[in-house]
Amino acid sequence: MLDIHQFPCLNDNYGFLVRDRETGTTVAIDTPDGEKYLAEAEALGWTIDEIWNTHWHPDHAGGNLKIKEATGCKIRGPVGEAGKIPGIDEQLGGGDTFKIGNLGVHVLDVPGHTLGHIAFHVPEAQTAFVGDALFALGCGKVFEGDAKMMWESLSRLKALPPETTIYCAHEYTAKNAEFALSVDPDNSKLTAYADEVKARRQNGEWTVPTQMSRELEANPFLRADDPAMQEAMGHPGDPVSTFAEIRHRKDTF
Ligand code: ZN
Ligand code: FE
Repeated sequence: MLDIHQFPCLNDNYGFLVRDRETGTTVAIDTPDGEKYLAEAEALGWTIDEIWNTHWHPDHAGGNLKIKEATGCKIRGPVGEAGKIPGIDEQLGGGDTFKIGNLGVHVLDVPGHTLGHIAFHVPEAQTAFVGDALFALGCGKVFEGDAKMMWESLSRLKALPPETTIYCAHEYTAKNAEFALSVDPDNSKLTAYADEVKARRQNGEWTVPTQMSRELEANPFLRADDPAMQEAMGHPGDPVSTFAEIRHRKDTF
């Protein structure tokens, strides 16, 4: 249904060009580097029709105008950050739907990293683009929101079908794995995942995308509602405080 072309951008971002096979509609997911996106699209013979921004950070929206000038593309982005999204044409928030070709796209509100952060879910393609809300074995730093807000956002993502392929915006997985092991050392799913990540990185391979089912088992930030994790973090019965404790430990790891 969708062809997804992934390529490294800037230091540790990934760029994604997504093309609907049926109609050829092509979308840039965020725009860390406008020139790189244009060059990658040209090499594939694809023309960028749309940009979907997850949040306003320059490593996500910094290439918007360059791409729009070159292609005349339409820019969709978060309503809560519209003033900070260069060239935005359509403002989207949680519950909004639109289409890529004939495939439905669902918008989820996932604030916390930034206050207006959104994610894009394409259910028929079992695919979600989550920006800096969720990472493989990690989650975004809570820059603008608070722990409660971020936990609610992660809970929204947790509710996606487990078979959903998760395209996150950064290659942070090796460091995330080291940290995850420090808070959840006895989790055999995590240990196996961490071993795989290490091997892949040693071979120069990417660890993105990931799958929600794996994250549910191994990502400590998604497990703040797990009684054993709550116990270990000293906040039985309290997912928000458990999440806050895990996030605090990661920020000082
Ligand atoms: Zn960001
Ligand atoms: Fe980022």
